[in-house]
Amino acid sequence: MTDVTTSPVHTDPMLDGEHERMSHIVLEGVKVSDEEFVSAGPSVAEGIVNGTPVKALCGKVWIPGRDPKRYPLCPTCKEIAESMGWKVPAG
Ligand SMILES: [Zn+2]
Repeated sequence: MTDVTTSPVHTDPMLDGEHERMSHIVLEGVKVSDEEFVSAGPSVAEGIVNGTPVKALCGKVWIPGRDPKRYPLCPTCKEIAESMGWKVPAG
């Protein structure tokens, strides 16, 4: 039996002063096997280095900051991740 592994990332939005301070989950890709990784979009690390926007499960798009802090997990992201059976990062 092969398990499909997802890589949700617990990261923080760059605050724009309007948005609530929450952490969102970014799905970077799905590991299909040891050799095969299907990318779902720009990774958080890429976003930090290149200023590439990443997209959270809830649809929020932002450029990840370098200095993530602990904020409560976005309920929408959490709900989606749980409904998909993905591991939810500890918030
Ligand atoms: Zn979210």
